Amino acid sequence: MNELKAFLNTRFSFEDFKEGQKETIQSILNQSDTLTILPTGAGKSLCYQFPSYYQNNGQTVIVSPLISLMEDQVSLIRKTGEKRVIAINSLMSKEARRFVFKRLNQYRFIFISPETLSQPKVLQAFKELTISLFVIDEAHCISQWGHDFRPSYLELSSVKAALNHPLTLALTATATPAVKEDIIEQLFLPDSFEEISCSVNRDNIFYKIAHVEDKHSFLLDFLKDKKVPGIIYFSSKKEAERIADFLQQHLDLGIGVYHGGVSASERLVIQEQFISGHLQILCATSAFGMGINKQNIRFVIHYHLPSSIEDYVQESGRAGRDGLQSLSIVLYKEGDEHIHYFLKDQTFQEKQELLTLLKNDLLIEGDQEQYMSDTQKKWYSQIKKSDLKRQKFEEKTTEKKFQQIKKINDMITFCQLETCRRQFILDYFQNNSQIIQDNCCDICQSELPEMTTQEVLNQPFNTLGSPFTKLENLFLKKF
Ligand code: ADP
Ligand code: MG
Repeated sequence: MNELKAFLNTRFSFEDFKEGQKETIQSILNQSDTLTILPTGAGKSLCYQFPSYYQNNGQTVIVSPLISLMEDQVSLIRKTGEKRVIAINSLMSKEARRFVFKRLNQYRFIFISPETLSQPKVLQAFKELTISLFVIDEAHCISQWGHDFRPSYLELSSVKAALNHPLTLALTATATPAVKEDIIEQLFLPDSFEEISCSVNRDNIFYKIAHVEDKHSFLLDFLKDKKVPGIIYFSSKKEAERIADFLQQHLDLGIGVYHGGVSASERLVIQEQFISGHLQILCATSAFGMGINKQNIRFVIHYHLPSSIEDYVQESGRAGRDGLQSLSIVLYKEGDEHIHYFLKDQTFQEKQELLTLLKNDLLIEGDQEQYMSDTQKKWYSQIKKSDLKRQKFEEKTTEKKFQQIKKINDMITFCQLETCRRQFILDYFQNNSQIIQDNCCDICQSELPEMTTQEVLNQPFNTLGSPFTKLENLFLKKF
């Protein structure tokens, strides 16, 4: 074991393993398929990077759901001096793709999306590799019960088989028992894998629900003395834009907007600006943040009610990766949940409609377009791929609706708690631990914790169109 620690010191310059890392690495070195569930910021990337350097054999293929996430990981690995790392995605030109595929076996780390990997030609090329480790990052995306379900993750089971069952590591931060079951069913053989998990508790995040009538004033008041990075999450793109504009008009801060409607390349720029400190506040939808490695996010505010505890824990968990005191605030006004009920109901209706079209054989090849919404088209193309999925789709439509409503209700319960919010989160993920700690939540203590509100940034704090500001002072201040 000491040998592993010595390798960690020399290769990665880390003093010691963080919780769960050593166990995961040991399991991989023992050639066991492994499911590792560790909180955001726990250092899951090291769990696949370490074995690659330690054993120095073959390729580590990392399946990742988002381009931004891949690019972020690749640039981090490159910063350590590693050149043999590549992300294969749609941003790549044809020439670059050809170049990369010719020398695929020379890379150490290959990041790829499940959509790309399941393309027959790509899969063929990957079959030629010596895959020493097949990593499924953000593995909860495989589950229909998860908060970030990606249908393309369902392909991974057959992709894995096509690749002749390479040693597999599934990584996630949030998995309820139902999600975990799905991951295991899709990726592992029963009873022949290791599971490593530790508490989802993030002890440096203080949880607060602010019952506010006027969210605008709350934000202005909260942000006026903060010169530290933060994210404000919204459930709609429009609102993210609207509030970003409003804040920009009233505050001298670098504020960016990030959502699915922003082009992929622009999103990368905004992400980079936020990570590097050129933007201080990001007004974002849930499209932002999965796996983003920015250490010093001091607060995450939910302007709208998150649609599930899983979403909430993932998103608030982006605060405080550096271990310093951070803050999660949900702005809650009674009735905020209606938008979620409405959206879920709309989705359900759309699915029902699609199923009716399919059942009554109203669709003739070629004329689908005129009947369907964009979302329906997406579902339909998934269903078309196999009969099994069509059947599953039908079965799960109603079930899923009730599940989603339950998740919203859980979130409302969380907002209305009169007992410790942290304990509620731990119980939700069946962590079975009793936690008593300082700076816990607004139920346990009425005062917000002390934390840094001003921070030195290396670069000038410049923004898209707002006045130039420079942050110079670092001091602790109570707010
Ligand atoms: P996760 O994927 O679990 O959210 P990351 O792998 O992105 O987290 O790592 C979060 C941060 O923790 C990174 O900056 C990484 O360099 C750091 N880190 C990882 N392992 C260790 C360690 N053993 N000691 C100190 N820092 C670590
Ligand atoms: Mg990660």
